[in-house]
Amino acid sequence: MKVPLLDLKEQYRSLKKEIMAATEAVYESQHFILGERVLSLEESIARYCGTSHAVGVSSGSDALLISLMAAGISANDSVLTTPYSFFATAGAIARLGARPVFADIDPQTFNLSPETLDLAMEKLTVPERKQVKAIIPVHLYGQCADMDPIIQFAKNNDLVVVEDAAQAIGSEYQHRRAGSMGACGCFSFFPSKNLGAFGDGGVVTTHSQEFYHHLKILRSHGSEPKYHHKFVGGNFRLDALQAAIVSVKLNHLDHWTAARQANAAKYRKLFSQNGLHETIRLPVERENRHIYNQFVIMVPDKRDDLRDFLAQAGIGTEVYYPVPLHLQECFAYLGYQPGDFKVAEKAARNSLAIPIYPELSDAQLEYVAETIKLFYG
Ligand SMILES: *Cc1c(COP(=O)(O)O)cnc(C)c1O
Repeated sequence: MKVPLLDLKEQYRSLKKEIMAATEAVYESQHFILGERVLSLEESIARYCGTSHAVGVSSGSDALLISLMAAGISANDSVLTTPYSFFATAGAIARLGARPVFADIDPQTFNLSPETLDLAMEKLTVPERKQVKAIIPVHLYGQCADMDPIIQFAKNNDLVVVEDAAQAIGSEYQHRRAGSMGACGCFSFFPSKNLGAFGDGGVVTTHSQEFYHHLKILRSHGSEPKYHHKFVGGNFRLDALQAAIVSVKLNHLDHWTAARQANAAKYRKLFSQNGLHETIRLPVERENRHIYNQFVIMVPDKRDDLRDFLAQAGIGTEVYYPVPLHLQECFAYLGYQPGDFKVAEKAARNSLAIPIYPELSDAQLEYVAETIKLFYG
């Protein structure tokens, strides 16, 4: 049996007619950049995330970049974030010449831990503390970070909160949607995300009319009106074809999320039936709507051997993420050392994502659990 980590072909098959019709309409219009399809997707996303506005952008990475730009982050500023995320979270900070400042994560959820934020600030000198202007909590794997204390910390320290919700569309924290709690929320339509385009794309959500306006200007080289530039922006636009495709898919998202949650529940049952819950740590559901962009197990012993064993049995896995951000070569200048963020470093050694996509069959889920059991003999 083959169980790939992700297989998008079945999803495509089920939507092919709708997607063909939607994209053909774009071809017929010959209107490819922004326009009514992007606008209509933005309205749908804002409604879905419970915000007043949304701005379609070129990728999740650019969503982060343009949000920090709109928040006024520049060289000599610092931004607090987690060392345990996809590179883009910290990359966006560094691209603006600002300094990433890391704080450790919660050992249960792998999200930024509110307790470590004060610690991270205490390690800075007083002038360095004053340079910290924003914080990026990441809703990792599809579960929201502990936002209330994070927002309180941000208020106390006068920080802009930029949510990295690239893995968390539809995820909730105390009945509030990812992307609706900070100054803005950044989403990715990278094809492997829960709501994926047929290429790169992303969106920024916000409640603020002012932030919205600023994002829209920055998305087109900072021009308003055309050819008059108050700011240096960039080309961060979402194109109409991607917007048309994502609009079709958005109508199916809740159904797919329910299937991911059902698969997660089945894994829990299978793992406990097989006695694997003693050896392997399953994801802890702390918040009320985990959307399982990934199902990440923690394997304290022989993670890489298990991964090879599963690969040989036709089961796809991935390590998110093998090197924490504070130990990346490009951030050596920040001066962090191994041991600085022990929880993140441990997660990097132990984490293994197993297949969770909506179309998996019961037989496939059983095969994954049984193969893991076989490995532990
Ligand atoms: C995918 C991802 C991004 C970047 O999104 P792209 O669309 O690939 O640029 C940023 N942050 C996190 C946490 C992600 O998972």
